[in-house]
Amino acid sequence: MICVWCNEDKARETTKECYWILPDGASTVKILQVPAMECLDCGIYLEDDLNEKVEDKIYTSDLSGYSDVFTYEELMNAPTI
Ligand SMILES: [Zn+2]
Repeated sequence: MICVWCNEDKARETTKECYWILPDGASTVKILQVPAMECLDCGIYLEDDLNEKVEDKIYTSDLSGYSDVFTYEELMNAPTI
């Protein structure tokens, strides 16, 4: 796949663990299995639209039923506030 950072055909899809700061600014959650890109030159990163999707979902979801570690899939299934 083409890497969006270096435009070389050196990337592939992978998943990544991410730490995310919650809207309260104080707590951090760990999100597992987040879809990511892995480039031979640039390393592992999240694409901008995926980043926004996670951010939006965190801001609009009720995460009170979750611990501070959950998967991307669980986040996407979280109830809306
Ligand atoms: Zn790259």
